Amino acid sequence: MKSNLIIIGAPGSGKGTQSKRLVKECGYVHISTGDLLRSEIEQKSELGLKIKSIMSQGQLVSDDVVFELIRSNVDLSLKKYIFDGFPRNLSQASFLKDLLNNFIYKAIYVKVDEQNLIRRIINRRVTPDGKFIYNLISNKPKVDGICDITGAALIQRSDDKEAVVKSRLDIFKSEAGPVIDYFKSLNKLVEIDGDLEEEKVYKEILKQIN
Ligand code: AMP
Repeated sequence: MKSNLIIIGAPGSGKGTQSKRLVKECGYVHISTGDLLRSEIEQKSELGLKIKSIMSQGQLVSDDVVFELIRSNVDLSLKKYIFDGFPRNLSQASFLKDLLNNFIYKAIYVKVDEQNLIRRIINRRVTPDGKFIYNLISNKPKVDGICDITGAALIQRSDDKEAVVKSRLDIFKSEAGPVIDYFKSLNKLVEIDGDLEEEKVYKEILKQIN
């Protein structure tokens, strides 16, 4: 039986790419709290209006809001999930542990060397909708600046610029450290070498889920 997964990794660790593949090939449902929150903002829902300025400042939305989103989007008795961007602090970690209590799960930490992360992020180029991701070193488009699939002009996300990357990595370290230690203490944490090439990282994750 497949484990539910909590995937933990810094920006640029490749966890988004790996999650997409696990969804496609293994039937997981991907729960990204960042995506769920962004969609509330796009829909201009009451919640969306409340959280917009908090998110634009890079601060965490309140735990209650995120717990409600998880409760209304997750049914562990029906599906297997990959939790991405959640939990971000100890109270969220404890909430998720209780939720997963009667189900199989693992926390997977995709660990990547900091210099490698910076190199990957500043060379990342995406379609404006963020759906297709390239890298100027390891995964170039066939024609410079153009998406192979959609023909759209590729852009650099504003938060992928070098000046912002360092602070995003600092925020990740302070958020993720306690969460990693928490799942380690429960014997639920598996660390994977994210400096390996994409295919090898995927194989390592597959070994953990069955
Ligand atoms: P992400 O897409 O995971 O980088 O998240 C983008 C933003 O959404 C974060 O900077 C937070 O403002 C908010 N957010 C995402 N996940 C959470 C969470 N688990 N708890 C609180 N805020 C979150």
